[in-house]
Amino acid sequence: MQWVEIKIVTTEDASDAICEMLAQVGADGIAVSDPFEIARIIEDPDSLAYADEGYIESLGTDVTIKAYFAEFDDGIRLGPKSEEYVDPNGVGMIYGNLSDKTMSVEDAMAFVKARLESIGEFLPLGKGFDGWRYVQDKDWENEWKKDYKSFRISERVVICPTWEEYEEVPGDVVVRLDPGSAFGTGTHETTSMCAKLLDKEVRSDDSVLDLGTGSGILAIICSKLGAQSVEAVDIDRLAVDVAVENCRENGCPDIDCYTGELKSVKGDSYTLIVANIIADIIAAIAPDVPSRLAPGGRFICSGIINTKRGKVEKALAEAGFTIDECHEKNDWLAYICHLT
Ligand code: SAH
Repeated sequence: MQWVEIKIVTTEDASDAICEMLAQVGADGIAVSDPFEIARIIEDPDSLAYADEGYIESLGTDVTIKAYFAEFDDGIRLGPKSEEYVDPNGVGMIYGNLSDKTMSVEDAMAFVKARLESIGEFLPLGKGFDGWRYVQDKDWENEWKKDYKSFRISERVVICPTWEEYEEVPGDVVVRLDPGSAFGTGTHETTSMCAKLLDKEVRSDDSVLDLGTGSGILAIICSKLGAQSVEAVDIDRLAVDVAVENCRENGCPDIDCYTGELKSVKGDSYTLIVANIIADIIAAIAPDVPSRLAPGGRFICSGIINTKRGKVEKALAEAGFTIDECHEKNDWLAYICHLT
């Protein structure tokens, strides 16, 4: 079996109708890249998505649709795959009854093109059909793993993917990680700056809160560096599932991982709070951090892009923090601060 990828470049107005048509003619998968949708997500003030200056403009106005069809020895089997369309008399079948037509790739492509042209009679198609190609049937989900290797993230801490061997040297603190779909491989600048700060800061009497734990990476580092207790919290339930799994893998079942945000954490106070999220959220939570910090406690925060430096520093100062150190890597910042 081989996968055939069709590319269609169109307008926002026509994209829904085209996707509907592709689903009805039997696409096994459809991927839509809509710059208007991306801009809406990035511009949403509640969104965690971040984009560099000029990125939204660089997306242009074309909507790109990629549809995937499986080609078997006898060709491509057209016809709706979804239950929604099985009734040939149903309203969904506006593109005609195709039930189980098998066609050569060339015929199937001509068929899709003809359907596209008929959509073009009543909606602006834009560039339209932009060719087709065979795509390798790779193990997409696992492809990235090839480039994820063991690396030393800080003086003592080594991050090692769960599927890799690592030969420890005395003094190494090895964190085994499978980040799955959660953020936190350790390769991002902000995670690595936090890890370096934690390597210097964590003490055996520390009670730590890792806010925005993602894969659990920073929480596990704290636990392995000997912190007395660690809580790992994330608003994303899937991240928490990944973190639980990684804590288990590292023999740190005592780390308490749960879904939540700063307002809902279990502990009254912590001696060390680390939050690697994004600038706007760090600025927004800053006023609530002091009430969760034990006397003499330290707050490490990162995820801060340097264009938002002023906003975060102002919020930290207003919350009563003094910044002890500011670290910078590429465009990213990390702070460690205490209450004055
Ligand atoms: N700590 C990891 C992951 C950082 S990614 C690392 O350093 O690599 C940031 C994480 O914060 C994401 O998993 C996201 O779901 C979570 N997050 C975003 N907003 C949050 C909030 N207000 N409270 C708690 N977690 C939040």
